[in-house]
Amino acid sequence: MTKKVAVIGGGIVGCITSFFLIEKGYEVTLVDQNSIGQEASWAGAGILSPLLPWNYEDSVNDLCFGSADFYHQLSEILKKDTGIDPEWIESGMLIHDEHDKNLAMNWCHTNSIEIKQIQIEKTSCLLLPHVAQIRNPRLLKALKIYLIKNNVVIMENQKVSPISDSNNFVHHLQIENSINLEADYYVVASGAWSSNVLNEIEMPKIRPIRGQLIQYPAIKEKLPYILYKDDFYLVQRQDGVVLAGSTKEDVGFDKGITEEARNSLQQKAESLLPILKNYKIENQWSGLRPGSDGNVPMIEKHHKYNNVYLNVGHYRYGLTMAPKAARIISDLITLNG
Ligand SMILES: Cc1cc2nc3c(=O)[nH]c(=O)nc-3n(C[C@H](O)[C@H](O)[C@H](O)COP(=O)(O)OP(=O)(O)OC[C@H]3O[C@@H](n4cnc5c(N)ncnc54)[C@H](O)[C@@H]3O)c2cc1C
Repeated sequence: MTKKVAVIGGGIVGCITSFFLIEKGYEVTLVDQNSIGQEASWAGAGILSPLLPWNYEDSVNDLCFGSADFYHQLSEILKKDTGIDPEWIESGMLIHDEHDKNLAMNWCHTNSIEIKQIQIEKTSCLLLPHVAQIRNPRLLKALKIYLIKNNVVIMENQKVSPISDSNNFVHHLQIENSINLEADYYVVASGAWSSNVLNEIEMPKIRPIRGQLIQYPAIKEKLPYILYKDDFYLVQRQDGVVLAGSTKEDVGFDKGITEEARNSLQQKAESLLPILKNYKIENQWSGLRPGSDGNVPMIEKHHKYNNVYLNVGHYRYGLTMAPKAARIISDLITLNG
């Protein structure tokens, strides 16, 4: 008999987890308290790599390796099946003023990642030519259509109540409007809200970290790469629009945008790329990242419930980590029988 899986949270992590589960023949229901793909996964910049990988633990990088290739193939499938182009581009990333160039060069050499030292005017830069980007709002829109076409049942505007069961097995999830959702397995992929769903009231392991971005209109100039300097980046989309980000703010579940962030991002953007002074900022938004210590997510079976799996806490790199993380969860579920 076909086994049923309920995935709680329709961000990139829940959508890609559903994608692998249907490939394995499971019957999948994807539940979201809002609409699919409208939270952090919508708000991000779409860079498919850690910003400076040599500054992260191996476990973080291991989850990120291979992601650009996966999304390249997925984009082709989605373009064909849904008519929406998620705009995967191998932009490369140009890093200005990296303090420890030797560390960067050695790390790339050890991990077989191509890196070049190049001089741009008077600045010595590092180029990671294979860093790619994807237009995440379009990716999510296309994925939703793809999942529906492939028989995933999507339930939007349905908030799952905190999981609790006296046994070590969850029989059903309670949805706030009092529907019960029954499945053989449950996957928590609820982003910044995961600790609420997991009922970790006193000791939340995942906490929201707000990130704000500003957007410039389509500029005439074509940027040859993603530009990076001191934890700040500029990303250009295919139509010429430029995103500048991002902040990291520990302000709870507040999704507001601030003038302070706008001014600070604008100052950094126009210092890194002075031609932006000729353009007016046209948009600003924020998203809540699922913050975790060291960006290390929890991708595992729940310590108490034998049929609940966690795919949470991908913090700054959830888009990049989603394919490997989803593969691990779908394999763990298959192993469970
Ligand atoms: C400004 C910014 C820039 C970023 N840039 C990048 C980048 O360039 N590259 C990269 O890899 N990552 C980036 N990230 C990080 C990335 O966006 C996140 O790590 C990723 O989106 C997390 O995905 P998720 O599916 O876990 O969370 P989300 O996308 O937030 O999805 C979680 C979903 O769960 C739902 N949910 C929550 N609680 C419940 C409930 N009780 N019942 C039902 N549904 C529920 C929510 O409504 C939401 O839709 C960025 C993030 C931000 C904010």
